[in-house]
Amino acid sequence: VKRRPRVVVAGVGDTGLLTAIHLAPHADVVGISTKAGLVSGQELGLRLARPREWERGYRIGFDRFRRLDSARVIHGTVTSVDTDGRTITVKAADGSAQDESYDVLVIATGASNGFWRTPALQDDGDVARDLDESHARIEAADSVTVVGGGAAAVSSAWNIAATWPDKRVDLYFPGTHALPHHHPRVWRILEGRFEARGIGLHPGHRAVVPAGFRCDEITGGPVAWSTGQPESTADAVLWAIGRVTPNSDWIPAEFLDANGFVVVDDYLRVVGAERIYAIGDVAATDALRTSARARADRLVARNVRAELGHGTAKRFRPLARRWGSVVGAQDNRLEVFSPSGRSWTIPAWDALWPWLVARSIYKGIRPADR
Ligand SMILES: Cc1cc2nc3c(=O)[nH]c(=O)nc-3n(C[C@H](O)[C@H](O)[C@H](O)COP(=O)(O)OP(=O)(O)OC[C@H]3O[C@@H](n4cnc5c(N)ncnc54)[C@H](O)[C@@H]3O)c2cc1C
Repeated sequence: VKRRPRVVVAGVGDTGLLTAIHLAPHADVVGISTKAGLVSGQELGLRLARPREWERGYRIGFDRFRRLDSARVIHGTVTSVDTDGRTITVKAADGSAQDESYDVLVIATGASNGFWRTPALQDDGDVARDLDESHARIEAADSVTVVGGGAAAVSSAWNIAATWPDKRVDLYFPGTHALPHHHPRVWRILEGRFEARGIGLHPGHRAVVPAGFRCDEITGGPVAWSTGQPESTADAVLWAIGRVTPNSDWIPAEFLDANGFVVVDDYLRVVGAERIYAIGDVAATDALRTSARARADRLVARNVRAELGHGTAKRFRPLARRWGSVVGAQDNRLEVFSPSGRSWTIPAWDALWPWLVARSIYKGIRPADR
């Protein structure tokens, strides 16, 4: 009997999960995950302001994904890879070390970015505690300063102000406008709404990051500006300045660029390695590292299958601009911005989610209360 190929997916976050879902019908898939389920890095604002609502779409136990029924997900951390022997070593949650062999390895360990995206080994209780603590920290503050101009910062400022209209919320960003990687039209549309909601907008502010501070907690102290303005104070300061560190310390240096991201070719194959692919925020595909939001999970699955003798491989085409939802679902409507900055709104989001997300993207998710 011919053995099914074995694909190990290192890191089961947004992209590792989707890649595993595509490959599960065709291979024995083994996922290695530091979290006991999907804990998405998306929609920080919703997560901070309305964590229970956020959890419905972004924190989902692996046992609920129908396509993962045939896969095995190990709760642990990948600590090393032996490319000659085609094995990885995993430190499991119980502290034991185990080796897993692969025919193909997909690297999807992502990047750390503030307190909401960490490579720490966490069980469900740890994740729930983190969620509740950061929510409580913001809830207790009368004034909130958000530092940063990307989607995480913009979405946080909006959702905090929308959830608690009495709080003073200020958004400080270095450029003349926020969302510099989106089409300029996106911020033009949002700016007026932010002003109407009373959110203080402060362009031209670049924060001084205190020495040794990794931007991985909500702080309370004053914020100094290297752009010359007087210090700002608030009860809670949220740092969302895009300080991204790749989770690649387990990968041999020969496969990494100077910043620690995994070097890949147009097919998302790791350059210099055999039968290893990389996807998501850890993969140095293009300047904006767009393979996650460009939905390259389908392409990697296709290319892995081609490597195993089925079909043909395809080249990855990076996106020139960020796109998608910026502030998440509001009042049961989801506004999505296209790469050309056009806005369209999906109504009745709660009713459509099971179709547009659970079924179409994840190929089936069981209800939470089963
Ligand atoms: C469907 C979809 C929609 C998106 N929509 C948008 C959008 O609208 N706007 C936008 O800007 N972006 C969007 N994105 C992109 C998103 O913001 C990030 O780029 C994405 O979360 C990155 O995914 P990732 O898998 O690389 O990292 P993560 O989701 O962070 O997953 C990495 C996982 O690996 C774990 N890990 C780390 N080290 C190890 C180790 N040694 N061993 C085992 N596990 C480890 C981490 O703890 C984490 O769980 C979207 C992405 C997807 C998939």
